[in-house]
Amino acid sequence: MMTIALIALGGNQGDVRRTAESALAQIGQHPAITVQRVSAWYSTESIGSAGRYWNAAAVVRTTLEPLELLDQLQQAELDHGRVRAGHWAPRTLDLDLVLYGERVINHPRLIVPHPLAWRRRFVLDPAVEIAGDFVHPISQCTLQQLLQRLMVRPLVVGVDLDQALWRVVWSQLPSTLRAEAEVVSSVSGEKAREVVVTFVASNHGERPFTVVVPADSSLAARSVADTLTAMLDCPIEILDESADR
Ligand code: ATP
Ligand code: CA
Ligand code: CA
Repeated sequence: MMTIALIALGGNQGDVRRTAESALAQIGQHPAITVQRVSAWYSTESIGSAGRYWNAAAVVRTTLEPLELLDQLQQAELDHGRVRAGHWAPRTLDLDLVLYGERVINHPRLIVPHPLAWRRRFVLDPAVEIAGDFVHPISQCTLQQLLQRLMVRPLVVGVDLDQALWRVVWSQLPSTLRAEAEVVSSVSGEKAREVVVTFVASNHGERPFTVVVPADSSLAARSVADTLTAMLDCPIEILDESADR
């Protein structure tokens, strides 16, 4: 059966755009995959590692099953110099399967919709450019609605985190982002391993989400700070394709 899938592309090492174009060409050569649309490139300061991060999105049509499509994405990553050096390590190319039609998949190798996509501006901004009307099958929101939910200012979030740790988190956020968020509660006094960050004021698909954090408090602070940064940080669309290549 023919399915429309949405892929998120990213990277922060080397000429990411050229690498990704080559990877997309490789994927499109597969007899069961057609690349239909590719967004512009968006740039953000990277979270978790130094340097600038580049992101885009692509819509493909495929008759492959989800895991078969993931195999093709992972093969393309490997063929383009991806070294699996750990979570959020610098990488030449990251290809994530964000949506596969409206299927919900919970497999050890593959979770679809990609569980973090809806709270990442760097995923949603390019995705909405080419697939704003695609429906997220769990929230039943369109991608456009999911993005709008992140664009409300101030972004009012509840963070369930002990006060001391919260102060560390807050101090790690860039001041430009601190000006955009309002945190209304830091309720838990326990050293929880799971920190719950909740949208307080939003109309669309109100749904708390959970960030699993390490027990180490500085790592926990960074994990929450990264999450909030991804929610708040507006990627810059790069219109000039030749810009700083
Ligand atoms: P993040 O999930 O924060 O974007 P990442 O992209 O850096 O993390 P990777 O190291 O690229 O994570 O991938 C880790 C594993 O995630 C892969 O081995 C893959 O099997 C699995 N995975 C689960 N769901 C997906 C998905 N929707 N798309 C791509 N990989 C997925
Ligand atoms: Ca990713
Ligand atoms: Ca990935």
